[in-house]
Amino acid sequence: MRVLVTGGAGYIGSHTVIQLIAAGQDVLIVDSFANAKPTVISRLEAITGKPLLVYAFDLRDTDKTEDLFAREQIDAVIHFAGHKAVGESVQKPLEYYENNLDSTLVLAGAMARHAVTKLVFSSSATVYGANAPVPMSEDLPTSATNPYGWTKVMIEQILRDVAVAQPEWRIALLRYFNPVGAHASGTIGEDPSDIPNNLVPYLSQVAVGRREKLQIFGDDYDTPDGTPLRDYIHVEDLAAGHIAALSKLATTESPVSTWNLGTGVGTSVLDVLHAFERAVGRALPYEIVGRRAGDIAASYADPHRAHAELGWTATRTIDDMCADSWRWQSQNPNGYPDA
Ligand code: UDP
Repeated sequence: MRVLVTGGAGYIGSHTVIQLIAAGQDVLIVDSFANAKPTVISRLEAITGKPLLVYAFDLRDTDKTEDLFAREQIDAVIHFAGHKAVGESVQKPLEYYENNLDSTLVLAGAMARHAVTKLVFSSSATVYGANAPVPMSEDLPTSATNPYGWTKVMIEQILRDVAVAQPEWRIALLRYFNPVGAHASGTIGEDPSDIPNNLVPYLSQVAVGRREKLQIFGDDYDTPDGTPLRDYIHVEDLAAGHIAALSKLATTESPVSTWNLGTGVGTSVLDVLHAFERAVGRALPYEIVGRRAGDIAASYADPHRAHAELGWTATRTIDDMCADSWRWQSQNPNGYPDA
């Protein structure tokens, strides 16, 4: 099968490309490189031992997207491309809605015209909104608390509507919990372009000496140690979930399927700090500060549906995740070099 991976040079996309190739799929990448470095591609080629076919353009360019589908045989699409910073989305809502919605509309339009009807979409646990009970199951109502989250809710709805109109489509909406970790080689990983907002990238930069200390946003939550619980999932487990979802699309009768990709385990901020300290082999500086606006006490998956329907389960522990994140960060203190 020939799979188009949008955002294939990004954090989750790059790890998924490796597993697709290992599973014997033929891969094509499209990436704007707005938030990814071209070095990723040479590293992917080194890991996979295969030259990669890469198109460097923005999906919102309707002519180029149409031309890609006209030129290439494509059997399925995994759609990762999109803006993903929650805080930035609050500052730049129009940019987020425009980028994430338009790119998906252009992509889906080209797919429809060229009879490509298998699509795996990167959604997020953020679609469960602010007051969802844990563990979160796929049947909960969706909502959001910021423009980034709303783009995920809206794209899910758009894709459901496509599947109503054209029931031959097979669409997977994958709701990710908190992806962390890196490839075991330490040569690809998460590379935030600015000051990291997320916990593990921030901790990694503290450990490597780029930031002074971690600020823990509140220890007065109603949780066992007072810090919030999240469902951290190794990016390699997450990538494996995409391979499983893609193969399920070949046999399922449902035009749209929704699957949580999480471990089902709630891990506190202090637990992550201590796991990272074990990976690094020393204590890391931190201070407790006030809560961050918009944070909720607990978010973790009910992962049973993905297990039952995809035969997929996350297997890596928080110690595995921190060890791999640290290997990546310590081997690449400043992230990917410029090409
Ligand atoms: N967090 C923190 N300090 C940081 C970044 C994050 O204490 O510098 C906490 C945050 O309050 C949340 C957890 O770590 O409880 C995970 O945050 P992250 O931004 O990684 O993911 P989120 O679940 O918010 O999408």
